[in-house]
Amino acid sequence: MTFVDIPTELHIGGKDVPARAGDRFDVLDPATGDVIARVANAGVADAVAAVDAAHEAAAAWAGTAPRERAEILRAAFELMTSQADQYARLISWENGKALPDARGEVAYAAEFFRWYAEEAVRINGSVQTAPSGANRIMVTHQPVGVCVLVTPWNFPAAMATRKIAPALAAGCTVILKPASDTPLTALALARTLAAAGVPDGVVNVVPSRRSGSVVSAMLHDPRVRKLSFTGSTEVGRLLLKEAADQVINTSMELGGNAPFLVFADADLDAALDGAMIAKMRNAGEACTAANRFYVESSVADEFGRRLAERMAALTVGPGGDDATQVGPLINADAVTKVQELVSDALDRGARSLTGASAPDRPGFYYHPTVLADVPTDATILTEEIFGPVAPIVPFDTEQQAVDLANATEFGLVAYLYTGDLARGLRVGERLEAGMVGLNRGLVSDPAAPFGGVKQSGIGREGGHEGVLDYTEPHYIAVSW
Ligand code: NAP
Ligand code: MG
Repeated sequence: MTFVDIPTELHIGGKDVPARAGDRFDVLDPATGDVIARVANAGVADAVAAVDAAHEAAAAWAGTAPRERAEILRAAFELMTSQADQYARLISWENGKALPDARGEVAYAAEFFRWYAEEAVRINGSVQTAPSGANRIMVTHQPVGVCVLVTPWNFPAAMATRKIAPALAAGCTVILKPASDTPLTALALARTLAAAGVPDGVVNVVPSRRSGSVVSAMLHDPRVRKLSFTGSTEVGRLLLKEAADQVINTSMELGGNAPFLVFADADLDAALDGAMIAKMRNAGEACTAANRFYVESSVADEFGRRLAERMAALTVGPGGDDATQVGPLINADAVTKVQELVSDALDRGARSLTGASAPDRPGFYYHPTVLADVPTDATILTEEIFGPVAPIVPFDTEQQAVDLANATEFGLVAYLYTGDLARGLRVGERLEAGMVGLNRGLVSDPAAPFGGVKQSGIGREGGHEGVLDYTEPHYIAVSW
């Protein structure tokens, strides 16, 4: 590992401090299962100390000139970019993802600092004349206040910067609770932000294995005004209930179950390229991962055969090896879950075109897999796979494709490939998802509003919408 020294203490009020209870937890290398670091395990008292620090820093930070906040965020972008290789290796080390994926994540993550540096000076309000003509309606956007940010392990850098950057641009201070599988990248980010000029207490990081009690304590602290959560729908539901006690402003980026539609009139080469990106970025461990492939019957066999050829040709190995294209999954449970979903589909009559097993080697690997003729009652079509498995279901009509795509409680992203632009826009509008990839297998862009409908979430990250999520409109009725 080349990071000079990887921080492993809590980051509170600008200082690296041990957890008050004095205990630590292990971070594992998914490629081997070996312990790579022992990180301070925050408890409730540490969480309260972090809220103290964020609260103490809040007024001064909110009062900082937008230009100054912008310059600091811009410096964070430059610094992170100059450390891109170190960050990529660190992400690959604790998360397992292949280096090309890790490099892609670093570029994406750093871009949130640049984008929100640019947005910080454009948080505009409005003035209008009341319809009665009696007064003016003046609206500004004020920072919401102290924010609790909770992030998952699948994008250890990007899920953190996608929250920290807009929060700081808006003038909020934050406490980040990173996933306990990947706390090192979050701690490294705290260091980069401090070096960029973020004042003490503005960004605090509290890794913890006691997620439930630590987050709950913060959500019941009257000084906390916002929760931004990215993770599973199951935990999101729990936290929405907890946030209700103090009526805390919430943004939720939750699970997905993305359909990937291929119509017979699509450019099949482009659809295969898009499928590989939508399915295999991060070995399938993405909330945006294509989870269900619906392919028009006349091209389903060809699509399946060619997708299987490309999946079988991928090099599986430790994320940090230069030749690796598909790294290990995050942990042993992830492999077990993927295997169970594949077995269920095969038991119900699906055909394996490639993969469908875990390689016999240490670490948490699964072979890239394509399943054809997956019956619509297979569990793999209703649950997030979070692994390198592509289930294919044939369809016959446009209406059937839309119905199948929308038959889920999730609505994060949907993909569709067609050569007919009118059909693309018509079907795109009917897909119940916050985001649609039309002839594109990748939708993530710091300049675009990322988020879901239905049980995939509330609110948007990225774009101008992302900064507004960290503000509250403040209206003054003025007579002059
Ligand atoms: P998760 O289990 O929901 O965990 C997410 C975060 O919540 C982690 O920091 C976790 O801490 C914490 N957490 C777990 N239980 C908690 C509780 N009872 N109270 C408070 N915090 C708690 O999700 P994950 O397994 O890390 O990530 C995979 C999920 O994230 C998938 O469903 C994926 O779709 C979703 N995701 C969504 C987006 C999006 O933008 N919509 C992006 C990426 C991922 P610990 O690590 O300590 O458990
Ligand atoms: Mg989890």
